[in-house]
Amino acid sequence: MAQQPTGRAARRPRTGRRKRAAAAPRTPARAAPRAAGDLERAVDEALPAATRAYRWFHRHPELSGAEVETARQLAAELRVLGLEVHEGIGGHGVVALLRGGGGAGPVVLVRADMDALPIEEATGLPYASGNPGVMHACGHDVHMACGLGAMRVLMARRGQLPGTVLFVGQPAEETDTGARDVLADRAFKRILARIGKPRVALALHDAADLPAGSVSLLPGYAYANTDTVDITVYGIGGHAARPHLACDPIVLGAEIVLSLQTIISRRLPAGERAVVTIGQFSAGHKHNVIPDQATLGITVRSYQEATRRRLLDEIERVALGVARAHGAPREPHVAVNENHTPASYNDPAWTARLEELFSAALGPGKVERHEPSLGGEDFGRYAAELGIPGVMWKLGAVDPRRLAAAARPADLPGLHSARFAPAPRPTLRTGILTLALAVEDALRQGP
Ligand SMILES: [Zn+2]
Ligand SMILES: [Zn+2]
Repeated sequence: MAQQPTGRAARRPRTGRRKRAAAAPRTPARAAPRAAGDLERAVDEALPAATRAYRWFHRHPELSGAEVETARQLAAELRVLGLEVHEGIGGHGVVALLRGGGGAGPVVLVRADMDALPIEEATGLPYASGNPGVMHACGHDVHMACGLGAMRVLMARRGQLPGTVLFVGQPAEETDTGARDVLADRAFKRILARIGKPRVALALHDAADLPAGSVSLLPGYAYANTDTVDITVYGIGGHAARPHLACDPIVLGAEIVLSLQTIISRRLPAGERAVVTIGQFSAGHKHNVIPDQATLGITVRSYQEATRRRLLDEIERVALGVARAHGAPREPHVAVNENHTPASYNDPAWTARLEELFSAALGPGKVERHEPSLGGEDFGRYAAELGIPGVMWKLGAVDPRRLAAAARPADLPGLHSARFAPAPRPTLRTGILTLALAVEDALRQGP
Protein backbone atom coordinates (compact mmCIF):
# COMPACT_ATOMS: atom_id res chain seq x y z
CA MET A 1 0.00 0.00 0.00
CA ALA A 2 1.21 3.46 -0.83
CA GLN A 3 2.55 5.34 2.14
CA GLN A 4 0.85 8.56 3.10
CA PRO A 5 3.74 10.67 4.33
CA THR A 6 1.88 12.45 7.07
CA GLY A 7 3.54 10.70 9.98
CA ARG A 8 6.41 12.79 11.21
CA ALA A 9 4.70 16.14 10.94
CA ALA A 10 1.42 14.92 12.30
CA ARG A 11 3.07 13.47 15.42
CA ARG A 12 4.50 16.83 16.40
CA PRO A 13 2.91 18.28 19.50
CA ARG A 14 0.45 21.06 18.82
CA THR A 15 2.78 23.54 20.44
CA GLY A 16 5.15 22.93 17.54
CA ARG A 17 3.02 25.21 15.42
CA ARG A 18 5.30 28.23 15.73
CA LYS A 19 8.37 26.21 14.83
CA ARG A 20 6.70 25.02 11.69
CA ALA A 21 7.08 28.45 10.08
CA ALA A 22 10.79 27.71 9.80
CA ALA A 23 10.16 24.48 7.96
CA ALA A 24 12.74 22.79 5.79
CA PRO A 25 13.31 23.90 2.19
CA ARG A 26 10.87 22.86 -0.48
CA THR A 27 11.94 19.39 -1.42
CA PRO A 28 9.53 16.69 -2.49
CA ALA A 29 10.29 14.73 0.69
CA ARG A 30 9.22 17.58 2.95
CA ALA A 31 6.32 18.92 0.95
CA ALA A 32 3.73 16.46 2.20
CA PRO A 33 4.66 16.60 5.91
CA ARG A 34 4.32 20.36 5.78
CA ALA A 35 0.87 19.90 4.27
CA ALA A 36 -0.04 17.71 7.26
CA GLY A 37 1.21 20.44 9.58
CA ASP A 38 -1.01 22.92 7.74
CA LEU A 39 -3.96 20.62 8.23
CA GLU A 40 -3.35 20.46 11.98
CA ARG A 41 -3.12 24.24 12.10
CA ALA A 42 -6.44 24.50 10.24
CA VAL A 43 -7.96 22.04 12.74
CA ASP A 44 -6.81 24.18 15.67
CA GLU A 45 -8.25 27.26 13.98
CA ALA A 46 -11.59 25.47 13.48
CA LEU A 47 -11.77 24.27 17.07
CA PRO A 48 -13.25 27.35 18.82
CA ALA A 49 -16.18 27.62 16.39
CA ALA A 50 -16.76 23.85 16.53
CA THR A 51 -16.78 24.00 20.35
CA ARG A 52 -19.33 26.84 20.29
CA ALA A 53 -21.47 24.82 17.84
CA TYR A 54 -21.16 21.74 20.06
CA ARG A 55 -22.37 23.63 23.13
CA TRP A 56 -25.27 25.07 21.15
CA PHE A 57 -26.34 21.66 19.87
CA HIS A 58 -25.94 20.14 23.32
CA ARG A 59 -28.10 22.84 24.87
CA HIS A 60 -30.82 22.49 22.20
CA PRO A 61 -31.45 18.75 21.74
CA GLU A 62 -34.46 17.60 19.68
CA LEU A 63 -36.02 14.18 19.32
CA SER A 64 -35.85 11.99 16.21
CA GLY A 65 -37.97 13.46 13.44
CA ALA A 66 -38.34 16.80 15.25
CA GLU A 67 -34.90 18.30 14.56
CA VAL A 68 -36.31 21.68 13.46
CA GLU A 69 -34.02 24.13 15.28
CA THR A 70 -31.06 21.75 14.97
CA ALA A 71 -31.49 21.68 11.19
CA ARG A 72 -31.87 25.46 11.03
CA GLN A 73 -28.67 25.97 13.02
CA LEU A 74 -26.70 23.35 11.10
CA ALA A 75 -27.82 24.78 7.74
CA ALA A 76 -26.98 28.33 8.82
CA GLU A 77 -23.48 27.33 9.93
CA LEU A 78 -22.83 25.44 6.71
CA ARG A 79 -24.03 28.43 4.66
CA VAL A 80 -21.72 30.78 6.55
CA LEU A 81 -18.85 28.46 5.65
CA GLY A 82 -19.80 28.83 1.98
CA LEU A 83 -21.29 25.43 1.22
CA GLU A 84 -24.29 24.89 -1.07
CA VAL A 85 -27.01 23.89 1.40
CA HIS A 86 -30.22 21.89 0.83
CA GLU A 87 -32.73 21.60 3.66
CA GLY A 88 -35.70 19.35 4.36
CA ILE A 89 -34.08 16.20 2.97
CA GLY A 90 -35.66 13.00 4.33
CA GLY A 91 -37.47 15.01 7.00
CA HIS A 92 -35.26 17.61 8.66
CA GLY A 93 -32.06 16.47 6.94
CA VAL A 94 -29.49 19.03 5.82
CA VAL A 95 -27.34 18.16 2.81
CA ALA A 96 -24.46 20.43 1.80
CA LEU A 97 -21.92 20.40 -1.01
CA LEU A 98 -18.34 21.54 -0.71
CA ARG A 99 -16.77 21.91 -4.13
CA GLY A 100 -13.02 21.61 -4.19
CA GLY A 101 -11.14 24.21 -6.21
CA GLY A 102 -8.52 21.71 -7.28
CA GLY A 103 -10.29 20.38 -10.36
CA ALA A 104 -12.24 17.25 -11.13
CA GLY A 105 -12.20 14.50 -8.56
CA PRO A 106 -14.37 12.03 -6.72
CA VAL A 107 -17.35 12.64 -4.44
CA VAL A 108 -16.94 11.73 -0.76
CA LEU A 109 -19.96 11.37 1.52
CA VAL A 110 -19.65 12.45 5.15
CA ARG A 111 -22.56 11.73 7.48
CA ALA A 112 -23.37 13.33 10.83
CA ASP A 113 -26.57 12.41 12.63
CA MET A 114 -28.63 15.09 14.37
CA ASP A 115 -31.20 13.64 16.77
CA ALA A 116 -31.27 13.40 20.57
CA LEU A 117 -32.96 11.03 23.02
CA PRO A 118 -35.92 11.19 25.43
CA ILE A 119 -33.70 11.38 28.53
CA GLU A 120 -33.65 13.94 31.34
CA GLU A 121 -30.05 15.18 31.44
CA ALA A 122 -28.22 14.78 34.76
CA THR A 123 -24.72 15.99 33.89
CA GLY A 124 -24.95 19.35 35.67
CA LEU A 125 -22.95 20.92 32.82
CA PRO A 126 -23.28 24.69 32.31
CA TYR A 127 -24.41 23.97 28.74
CA ALA A 128 -26.75 21.10 29.72
CA SER A 129 -29.98 20.55 27.81
CA GLY A 130 -32.45 23.41 27.99
CA ASN A 131 -35.15 21.14 26.60
CA PRO A 132 -36.71 19.18 29.51
CA GLY A 133 -36.72 15.42 29.02
CA VAL A 134 -34.53 15.54 25.91
CA MET A 135 -30.76 15.07 25.82
CA HIS A 136 -27.91 14.53 23.39
CA ALA A 137 -26.89 11.37 25.22
CA CYS A 138 -25.54 9.55 22.16
CA GLY A 139 -23.19 12.36 21.13
CA HIS A 140 -24.87 13.28 17.86
CA ASP A 141 -24.06 16.86 18.89
CA VAL A 142 -20.38 15.82 18.81
CA HIS A 143 -20.87 14.38 15.32
CA MET A 144 -22.45 17.58 13.98
CA ALA A 145 -19.76 19.77 15.57
CA CYS A 146 -16.98 17.54 14.19
CA GLY A 147 -18.64 17.64 10.76
CA LEU A 148 -18.88 21.43 10.87
CA GLY A 149 -15.27 21.68 12.05
CA ALA A 150 -14.09 19.39 9.25
CA MET A 151 -16.04 21.42 6.66
CA ARG A 152 -14.39 24.59 7.99
CA VAL A 153 -10.96 22.96 7.67
CA LEU A 154 -11.70 21.71 4.17
CA MET A 155 -13.09 25.08 3.06
CA ALA A 156 -9.87 26.73 4.25
CA ARG A 157 -7.94 24.27 2.07
CA ARG A 158 -10.50 24.19 -0.72
CA GLY A 159 -8.18 25.62 -3.35
CA GLN A 160 -5.95 22.54 -3.25
CA LEU A 161 -8.75 19.96 -3.08
CA PRO A 162 -10.13 18.05 -6.04
CA GLY A 163 -13.66 16.70 -6.12
CA THR A 164 -16.73 17.30 -3.98
CA VAL A 165 -17.67 16.64 -0.37
CA LEU A 166 -21.29 15.60 0.14
CA PHE A 167 -22.11 16.43 3.76
CA VAL A 168 -25.23 14.70 5.06
CA GLY A 169 -26.77 16.02 8.27
CA GLN A 170 -29.05 13.09 8.96
CA PRO A 171 -32.15 13.19 11.16
CA ALA A 172 -33.77 10.30 13.03
CA GLU A 173 -30.87 7.91 13.50
CA GLU A 174 -32.18 6.65 16.82
CA THR A 175 -35.39 5.46 15.17
CA ASP A 176 -33.48 3.87 12.28
CA THR A 177 -35.51 5.83 9.76
CA GLY A 178 -33.29 8.82 8.92
CA ALA A 179 -30.82 7.23 6.49
CA ARG A 180 -33.67 5.42 4.74
CA ASP A 181 -35.64 8.65 4.34
CA VAL A 182 -32.65 10.71 3.18
CA LEU A 183 -31.73 8.09 0.57
CA ALA A 184 -35.33 7.84 -0.62
CA ASP A 185 -35.79 11.62 -0.91
CA ARG A 186 -36.15 12.73 -4.53
CA ALA A 187 -34.15 15.90 -3.87
CA PHE A 188 -31.27 13.78 -2.54
CA LYS A 189 -31.43 11.57 -5.63
CA ARG A 190 -31.31 14.68 -7.83
CA ILE A 191 -28.21 15.90 -6.01
CA LEU A 192 -26.54 12.51 -6.51
CA ALA A 193 -27.51 12.50 -10.19
CA ARG A 194 -25.88 15.92 -10.56
CA ILE A 195 -22.62 15.28 -8.71
CA GLY A 196 -22.21 11.52 -9.23
CA LYS A 197 -22.07 8.56 -6.88
CA PRO A 198 -19.75 8.95 -3.88
CA ARG A 199 -16.67 6.72 -3.92
CA VAL A 200 -16.92 6.17 -0.15
CA ALA A 201 -19.20 7.00 2.80
CA LEU A 202 -17.48 8.14 6.00
CA ALA A 203 -18.72 8.79 9.53
CA LEU A 204 -17.59 8.68 13.12
CA HIS A 205 -19.43 7.81 16.31
CA ASP A 206 -18.29 8.90 19.73
CA ALA A 207 -17.42 6.17 22.25
CA ALA A 208 -17.99 6.31 26.00
CA ASP A 209 -15.27 3.76 26.78
CA LEU A 210 -12.38 5.22 24.80
CA PRO A 211 -10.16 8.12 25.92
CA ALA A 212 -10.50 11.42 24.07
CA GLY A 213 -7.58 11.72 21.67
CA SER A 214 -7.98 8.10 20.53
CA VAL A 215 -10.04 6.41 17.87
CA SER A 216 -10.84 2.79 17.13
CA LEU A 217 -11.66 1.01 13.91
CA LEU A 218 -12.79 -2.43 12.88
CA PRO A 219 -12.62 -3.93 9.40
CA GLY A 220 -15.69 -5.90 8.34
CA TYR A 221 -19.04 -6.00 10.09
CA ALA A 222 -19.15 -3.41 12.87
CA TYR A 223 -22.91 -3.06 13.52
CA ALA A 224 -25.67 -5.58 12.96
CA ASN A 225 -28.72 -6.09 10.78
CA THR A 226 -31.55 -5.14 13.09
CA ASP A 227 -34.99 -6.65 12.73
CA THR A 228 -38.05 -6.87 14.90
CA VAL A 229 -40.71 -9.55 14.67
CA ASP A 230 -44.18 -9.58 16.24
CA ILE A 231 -45.93 -12.88 16.81
CA THR A 232 -49.56 -13.28 17.79
CA VAL A 233 -50.33 -16.75 19.10
CA TYR A 234 -53.98 -17.80 18.94
CA GLY A 235 -55.47 -20.19 21.48
CA ILE A 236 -58.91 -20.87 22.89
CA GLY A 237 -59.81 -18.95 26.06
CA GLY A 238 -61.64 -20.49 28.99
CA HIS A 239 -61.90 -21.06 32.74
CA ALA A 240 -58.60 -21.50 34.59
CA ALA A 241 -60.02 -24.57 36.33
CA ARG A 242 -60.95 -26.28 33.04
CA PRO A 243 -57.80 -25.99 30.89
CA HIS A 244 -58.68 -29.20 29.01
CA LEU A 245 -61.55 -27.31 27.37
CA ALA A 246 -59.24 -24.47 26.27
CA CYS A 247 -56.04 -24.11 24.24
CA ASP A 248 -53.76 -22.07 26.49
CA PRO A 249 -51.84 -19.47 24.43
CA ILE A 250 -49.57 -18.69 27.42
CA VAL A 251 -48.23 -22.25 27.50
CA LEU A 252 -47.95 -22.17 23.74
CA GLY A 253 -46.14 -18.83 23.80
CA ALA A 254 -43.81 -20.02 26.56
CA GLU A 255 -42.86 -23.05 24.51
CA ILE A 256 -42.20 -20.80 21.52
CA VAL A 257 -39.95 -18.62 23.71
CA LEU A 258 -37.90 -21.64 24.77
CA SER A 259 -37.75 -23.16 21.29
CA LEU A 260 -36.52 -19.86 19.86
CA GLN A 261 -33.48 -20.13 22.15
CA THR A 262 -32.27 -23.13 20.19
CA ILE A 263 -32.05 -21.23 16.89
CA ILE A 264 -28.70 -19.64 17.78
CA SER A 265 -27.37 -22.66 19.70
CA ARG A 266 -28.56 -25.42 17.38
CA ARG A 267 -29.36 -24.01 13.95
CA LEU A 268 -26.46 -21.61 13.31
CA PRO A 269 -22.83 -22.67 12.97
CA ALA A 270 -20.92 -22.31 16.24
CA GLY A 271 -19.23 -18.93 16.54
CA GLU A 272 -21.60 -17.07 14.23
CA ARG A 273 -22.62 -13.83 15.92
CA ALA A 274 -26.36 -13.35 16.12
CA VAL A 275 -29.04 -12.62 18.69
CA VAL A 276 -32.70 -13.56 19.11
CA THR A 277 -34.17 -11.80 22.15
CA ILE A 278 -37.81 -11.88 23.21
CA GLY A 279 -38.30 -8.46 24.74
CA GLN A 280 -42.07 -8.60 25.10
CA PHE A 281 -44.49 -11.36 26.09
CA SER A 282 -48.04 -10.28 26.86
CA ALA A 283 -51.13 -12.30 27.57
CA GLY A 284 -54.07 -12.42 29.92
CA HIS A 285 -55.57 -10.03 32.42
CA LYS A 286 -56.93 -12.18 35.28
CA HIS A 287 -55.67 -15.06 37.47
CA ASN A 288 -58.54 -17.36 36.69
CA VAL A 289 -59.06 -16.74 32.99
CA ILE A 290 -57.20 -18.49 30.19
CA PRO A 291 -56.87 -15.80 27.50
CA ASP A 292 -57.42 -16.50 23.83
CA GLN A 293 -54.21 -15.00 22.55
CA ALA A 294 -50.64 -14.02 23.47
CA THR A 295 -48.19 -11.69 21.75
CA LEU A 296 -44.41 -11.83 21.53
CA GLY A 297 -42.07 -8.98 20.53
CA ILE A 298 -38.70 -10.19 19.25
CA THR A 299 -35.41 -8.49 18.40
CA VAL A 300 -33.22 -10.19 15.82
CA ARG A 301 -29.60 -9.22 15.13
CA SER A 302 -27.18 -10.64 12.57
CA TYR A 303 -24.39 -9.63 10.18
CA GLN A 304 -24.73 -11.62 6.96
CA GLU A 305 -27.89 -11.28 4.90
CA ALA A 306 -28.11 -15.09 4.58
CA THR A 307 -28.02 -15.43 8.39
CA ARG A 308 -30.70 -12.78 8.72
CA ARG A 309 -33.02 -14.64 6.34
CA ARG A 310 -32.29 -17.91 8.12
CA LEU A 311 -33.16 -16.45 11.54
CA LEU A 312 -36.41 -14.93 10.31
CA ASP A 313 -37.41 -18.18 8.57
CA GLU A 314 -36.57 -20.24 11.67
CA ILE A 315 -38.61 -17.98 13.93
CA GLU A 316 -41.65 -18.45 11.72
CA ARG A 317 -41.08 -22.20 11.45
CA VAL A 318 -40.81 -22.59 15.25
CA ALA A 319 -43.94 -20.51 15.90
CA LEU A 320 -46.04 -22.41 13.34
CA GLY A 321 -44.68 -25.79 14.44
CA VAL A 322 -45.31 -25.29 18.16
CA ALA A 323 -48.82 -23.99 17.53
CA ARG A 324 -49.60 -26.98 15.33
CA ALA A 325 -48.21 -29.40 17.94
CA HIS A 326 -50.61 -27.93 20.52
CA GLY A 327 -53.64 -28.04 18.26
CA ALA A 328 -54.05 -24.27 18.12
CA PRO A 329 -57.24 -23.18 16.39
CA ARG A 330 -55.35 -20.87 14.01
CA GLU A 331 -51.78 -20.48 12.80
CA PRO A 332 -49.87 -17.75 14.65
CA HIS A 333 -49.50 -14.46 12.83
CA VAL A 334 -45.79 -13.73 12.32
CA ALA A 335 -45.01 -10.18 11.17
CA VAL A 336 -41.47 -9.06 10.32
CA ASN A 337 -41.28 -5.29 10.70
CA GLU A 338 -40.43 -3.70 7.35
CA ASN A 339 -38.24 -1.12 9.05
CA HIS A 340 -35.09 -3.21 8.82
CA THR A 341 -31.69 -1.60 9.30
CA PRO A 342 -28.89 -3.24 7.32
CA ALA A 343 -25.60 -4.14 8.97
CA SER A 344 -22.75 -1.60 8.85
CA TYR A 345 -19.82 -3.10 7.03
CA ASN A 346 -16.47 -1.33 7.26
CA ASP A 347 -14.71 -1.88 3.96
CA PRO A 348 -11.40 -3.60 4.87
CA ALA A 349 -9.21 -1.71 2.37
CA TRP A 350 -10.57 1.69 3.38
CA THR A 351 -10.39 0.77 7.07
CA ALA A 352 -6.73 -0.24 6.72
CA ARG A 353 -6.03 3.01 4.89
CA LEU A 354 -7.65 5.08 7.64
CA GLU A 355 -5.89 3.08 10.36
CA GLU A 356 -2.59 3.98 8.73
CA LEU A 357 -3.49 7.66 8.32
CA PHE A 358 -4.87 8.04 11.84
CA SER A 359 -1.93 6.22 13.44
CA ALA A 360 0.47 8.60 11.73
CA ALA A 361 -1.55 11.66 12.76
CA LEU A 362 -2.49 10.75 16.32
CA GLY A 363 0.68 9.00 17.36
CA PRO A 364 1.47 5.63 18.93
CA GLY A 365 -1.21 3.86 20.95
CA LYS A 366 -4.02 6.17 19.84
CA VAL A 367 -5.64 3.91 17.25
CA GLU A 368 -7.30 0.78 18.55
CA ARG A 369 -9.37 -2.09 17.22
CA HIS A 370 -12.85 -2.55 18.67
CA GLU A 371 -15.09 -5.57 18.92
CA PRO A 372 -17.99 -5.95 16.50
CA SER A 373 -21.27 -4.79 18.01
CA LEU A 374 -24.71 -6.33 17.59
CA GLY A 375 -26.14 -2.87 18.09
CA GLY A 376 -27.77 -1.11 15.17
CA GLU A 377 -26.58 2.01 13.30
CA ASP A 378 -28.29 3.15 10.13
CA PHE A 379 -25.09 4.58 8.64
CA GLY A 380 -24.63 1.15 7.00
CA ARG A 381 -27.54 1.95 4.71
CA TYR A 382 -25.55 4.52 2.66
CA ALA A 383 -22.97 1.94 1.61
CA ALA A 384 -25.56 -0.82 1.19
CA GLU A 385 -28.01 1.19 -0.94
CA LEU A 386 -25.50 3.21 -2.96
CA GLY A 387 -23.28 0.17 -3.55
CA ILE A 388 -20.16 1.92 -2.25
CA PRO A 389 -17.62 1.20 0.51
CA GLY A 390 -18.23 2.76 3.88
CA VAL A 391 -16.27 3.21 7.10
CA MET A 392 -17.40 4.39 10.51
CA TRP A 393 -14.80 4.81 13.22
CA LYS A 394 -15.22 5.31 16.94
CA LEU A 395 -14.09 8.56 18.45
CA GLY A 396 -12.86 8.52 22.06
CA ALA A 397 -14.93 10.96 24.11
CA VAL A 398 -13.96 10.31 27.72
CA ASP A 399 -11.62 12.51 29.73
CA PRO A 400 -8.56 10.20 30.03
CA ARG A 401 -8.27 11.04 33.76
CA ARG A 402 -11.86 9.94 34.39
CA LEU A 403 -11.23 6.76 32.42
CA ALA A 404 -8.09 6.02 34.45
CA ALA A 405 -9.90 6.74 37.74
CA ALA A 406 -12.82 4.43 36.97
CA ALA A 407 -12.36 1.07 38.67
CA ARG A 408 -14.37 -0.67 35.94
CA PRO A 409 -15.54 0.58 32.53
CA ALA A 410 -19.10 0.03 33.79
CA ASP A 411 -18.53 2.82 36.33
CA LEU A 412 -18.43 5.38 33.52
CA PRO A 413 -21.69 6.70 32.09
CA GLY A 414 -22.23 5.01 28.72
CA LEU A 415 -23.99 6.22 25.60
CA HIS A 416 -27.71 6.83 26.25
CA SER A 417 -26.93 7.59 29.92
CA ALA A 418 -28.30 10.76 31.53
CA ARG A 419 -24.77 11.43 32.82
CA PHE A 420 -22.87 10.97 29.53
CA ALA A 421 -20.60 14.01 29.19
CA PRO A 422 -17.86 13.95 26.54
CA ALA A 423 -14.66 15.93 27.13
CA PRO A 424 -15.35 18.50 24.39
CA ARG A 425 -11.99 19.91 23.37
CA PRO A 426 -9.88 16.76 22.87
CA THR A 427 -12.87 14.87 21.49
CA LEU A 428 -13.73 17.52 18.91
CA ARG A 429 -10.10 18.09 17.95
CA THR A 430 -9.55 14.40 17.23
CA GLY A 431 -12.90 14.13 15.48
CA ILE A 432 -12.25 17.10 13.20
CA LEU A 433 -8.68 15.99 12.49
CA THR A 434 -9.60 12.42 11.60
CA LEU A 435 -12.59 13.48 9.48
CA ALA A 436 -10.60 16.09 7.57
CA LEU A 437 -7.71 13.66 7.06
CA ALA A 438 -10.01 10.90 5.86
CA VAL A 439 -11.92 13.15 3.47
CA GLU A 440 -8.79 14.75 1.99
CA ASP A 441 -7.21 11.37 1.45
CA ALA A 442 -10.39 10.01 -0.13
CA LEU A 443 -10.56 13.01 -2.47
CA ARG A 444 -6.90 12.70 -3.47
CA GLN A 445 -5.95 9.07 -3.27
CA GLY A 446 -7.71 6.50 -1.08
CA PRO A 447 -6.58 2.89 -0.71
ZN1 LIG B 1 -27.80 6.23 20.17
ZN1 LIG C 1 -25.65 7.38 18.08
